[in-house]
Amino acid sequence: MRSPASTLWRDLLVVPMDGPASAPLGDARRCDLRIAGDRLEALGALTPRAGERVCEGRGRLAVPGFVQGHVHCCQTLFRGLGDDLPLLAWLRTRIWPLEAAHDAASVRASAALSFAELLRGGTTSVQAIETVRHTEETFALADGLGMTAIVGNCLMDLGGDGVPPGLPSTRRDALAISEELCDAWHGRGRLAYAVTPRFLLSCSDGLARDAAAFARGRGLRVHTHASEHADELAAVFARFRAGYLETLHAQGLLGERTSLAHCVHVDGDELERLVASGAAVLHCPSANQKLGSGIAPIARFAARGVRIALGADGAPCNNRLRALTELRAAALLAALSAGPGVWRAEHALAAITCGAADALGLDDVGRLVPGKRADLVILDLGDPLLGAAAADDAATAISRLVWAADDDAIDTVLLGGREVLRGGELLEFDRARLLAEARAALTRVLARAGLAR
Ligand SMILES: [Zn+2]
Repeated sequence: MRSPASTLWRDLLVVPMDGPASAPLGDARRCDLRIAGDRLEALGALTPRAGERVCEGRGRLAVPGFVQGHVHCCQTLFRGLGDDLPLLAWLRTRIWPLEAAHDAASVRASAALSFAELLRGGTTSVQAIETVRHTEETFALADGLGMTAIVGNCLMDLGGDGVPPGLPSTRRDALAISEELCDAWHGRGRLAYAVTPRFLLSCSDGLARDAAAFARGRGLRVHTHASEHADELAAVFARFRAGYLETLHAQGLLGERTSLAHCVHVDGDELERLVASGAAVLHCPSANQKLGSGIAPIARFAARGVRIALGADGAPCNNRLRALTELRAAALLAALSAGPGVWRAEHALAAITCGAADALGLDDVGRLVPGKRADLVILDLGDPLLGAAAADDAATAISRLVWAADDDAIDTVLLGGREVLRGGELLEFDRARLLAEARAALTRVLARAGLAR
């Protein structure tokens, strides 16, 4: 059957997320929405065209596809294997040995698990730091699905301190792999390459400076971790005799194209450095709680104009990759740390739609505006257990979405106009195969890592 040239969704409650930072929802209203090819073509009172596919949207809420700023697809295979540990012990005893034991097929299986879960939860764009090798597998999978993905091969050239000998690359190899991946994937389809030092303690000063020069030379984004845990900050100070962001600045890694995961412990001079740099913060509220890292002062960052994107981080420190989980966690932590009503539900939603797109420099996603890519999440909030307020009121719909809903409310996900989830069912993944490949890969990795039980 020939696919229709366009699809008309009738009578949706559309929240375009195209307002200013102070009121990001924009002109939320009940209207029709037309998709042609991979683009959102029109919003308003629309008449069906001959041969057009028509979908009924009454009682449903449409928001932009979610944009997550910080994930590690390579770690999804390790869900449940890193519980009850703080950051540095989590890295030394679990994540580094497991990443060192990855092979190409296990990275591919891990990425498949990641993309299936991300799409099930409405995430249509991601920025990811992968492991030290085999990152082409993640790119290939994202490309096949049509995900918008900014991916980097982890830069890590320092051993010792619990790092397995097989994990780090040399300074020279780290750059060579980045160049090769960038040449192969940057700008292809919906993909971009980012320069991704793991964190300050993993990179020699020379590699950090080479990475900064490479990013500048190619106009690439820089994506790394910063100021996550107090013990990490103490180790950074012991090595560099300087603050975290001060050191990144000295290495040339801070700037408007930089995004920094966590920033839990950023105040005083470090806050001024963050604001002056124009770097974005990638807020990972679930991971920060699970590793006991603390609460990032997101409301304070937002008040200073810092761009913010939410992220699930890795499956072994969350243990979900769900957009709605991070939305609720971010809103809860902001209420706890800044007080209720300061950084509200709509600001949390912006940090996983329009604000996240701005933070990552993605100009054609994150807003439901004609001409943008047709990445949409369509939710059925009609379940009485989510509240009895009128379904067409935008404020109560956003309240239900951020504070009350879980993935059961996500009915349809469109990725570039293509349905990848319909009626809550993932259309492009064979669950049995996904599981079989992941189990086989995990068995190999655990044996190689010496962690088999
Ligand atoms: Zn991370």
